[in-house]
Amino acid sequence: MGKVLIIGAGGVATVAAHKVAQKPEVFTEVMIASRTLRKCDALAEVLEKRYGRKVRTAQVDADSVEQLVQLFSSFRPDIVMNLALPYQDLTIMEACLQTGCNYLDTANYEPKDEAHFEYSWQWAYRERFEKAGLTAILGCGFDPGVTSIFTAYAAKHYFDEIQYLDIVDCNAGNHHKAFATNFNPEINIREITQKGLYWEDGRWVETEPMEIHQTLYYPNIGPKESYLLHHEELESLVLNYPTIRRARFWMTFGQQYLNYLDVIQNIGMARIDEIEYKAPKADGSGDTVVKIVPLQFLKAVLPNPQDLGENYDGETSIGCRIRGLKGGQERTYYVYNNCSHQAAYEETGMQGVSYTTGVPAMIGAMMFLEGKWAKPGVHNVEEFDPDPFMDRLRQDGLPWHEMHNVDLEFD
Ligand code: NDP
Repeated sequence: MGKVLIIGAGGVATVAAHKVAQKPEVFTEVMIASRTLRKCDALAEVLEKRYGRKVRTAQVDADSVEQLVQLFSSFRPDIVMNLALPYQDLTIMEACLQTGCNYLDTANYEPKDEAHFEYSWQWAYRERFEKAGLTAILGCGFDPGVTSIFTAYAAKHYFDEIQYLDIVDCNAGNHHKAFATNFNPEINIREITQKGLYWEDGRWVETEPMEIHQTLYYPNIGPKESYLLHHEELESLVLNYPTIRRARFWMTFGQQYLNYLDVIQNIGMARIDEIEYKAPKADGSGDTVVKIVPLQFLKAVLPNPQDLGENYDGETSIGCRIRGLKGGQERTYYVYNNCSHQAAYEETGMQGVSYTTGVPAMIGAMMFLEGKWAKPGVHNVEEFDPDPFMDRLRQDGLPWHEMHNVDLEFD
C-alpha cells in the first residue's frame, strides 16, 4: 500500500517499527533513519530476524532540512513518521513540504531553548500542506493521540454536548530503578516541571507545578495520587469541542519520584540554559572550557527508557472521563486502556509507555495509507473519523473498555 520512513530509533520508534514490520500488506517498504546509524541497524536486524522483513536504514540529522530533503528525495516515502524529538517537528514538516511527503508525529513542537510547547508553530503550516495536497497528522501517540480519539469517539456516539473532560494517565508500573523517566528524560522533565494549566469557562487557568492533586481510582490498579499538569491535547480539544466548560489532564507520580524531581530542580540539574564547564584536555595539558546544558547532561547519566522493559512490572491505565448531555439528559462516560509493561516488553523489547505511543503512531500511518485519514492540511487526530482507528486499537494490542454513567470522581 505504501512506503514509510520512520525517523528516530528510540523507545517509541522501536515499538512503531515492530508494528509496521508486522504489516507488510500495508507498509510495503520501510526505512528507519536517525542520528545514530548503529541504533537503526540494530533495530533492522531484530526486525529481519523476527518478521523476515528487510528494512533500510540511514543516518540523518533531523535538525537539518537539507539532509532531510536529500533523504526523502532518494527514498520517496508516502508518509514520514516523526518519532524523534519535538525539536525536530518543524524541520521535518518543512522537508515534507519540499519533497511532497505526508507527515505524522506524536508530540508538538518545542524550541530547544524554551520549555514551552504549543500548536501555533505547527498550525502555521496548515495552508501550505493544504495547497500541496499533503496530510499532516499531529499528536498521534497515546496522550496526545488516543486520548483525543477517545474524546472524538465519545462526541460521535454518546454526547450531543461534551461539558467536562478529564484525561487521566496512571503508570502503576515499577521498573525497580531509584529514578528513571519513561520516555526521553529531557523532554519528560521539561514537561512535568512546567506550571499546570487547565481550561475553565472559556479561559486558561494557570497553577504552580503539581499544585493541584487528588486521589483517583484506576481500574485494576486502585487509588493513586494524581497531579494536574498542562498537556498539549487540551489546546486543540477545547477548540474542536467548544461546548467543553472544563478540560484538565491528570498524571500519577509516586512520592519517591517527586522527591528526586525536587532535588534535581533544586540543585540546578533541570536547567536548560548552557553553562560553562571546565573539562580536562585529553592530552593532560590543562583544562578546556566546554558548554553543557545541565538537563542534557542529566539525560546522559539517567537510565535509558529503552532499557527499562526487562524488569518492569505492573501496568498503565490511561483514559478519558467525560460528562455532558445526550438528548437533554446528563450522562457520564469513562473510556480507557490498561497496558501491561511485561506484555509490551515480550512483544517489542520496550516498556508500556513506549508501546502505548508507538502502536497509535503505526495505526495513524496505516489510517493514512488506507485512505481513511487522508485529508490535506495539518490536523490534530480528533479531526479524523475515530471509528476505524478505535477498531484497529483493539486488534493491534491496545484494547479499550467503556463504563457508562458511573461516578467519575470529579464534581
Ligand atoms: P528517545 O530519546 O528514546 O528517542 C528519540 C530518538 O530520536 C533517538 O533515536 C534519537 O537519536 C533520535 N534523535 C534525536 N535528535 C535527532 C536528530 N536531530 N536527528 C535524528 N534523530 C534524532 O525518545 P522516545 O522514543 O521516548 O520518544 C520519542 C518521541 O515520542 C518524543 O517526541 C516524545 O515526546 C514522544 N512521546 C509521545 C508520547 C505520547 O503519548 N504522545 C508519549 C511518549 C513519548 P539518538 O539515538 O542518537 O539519541
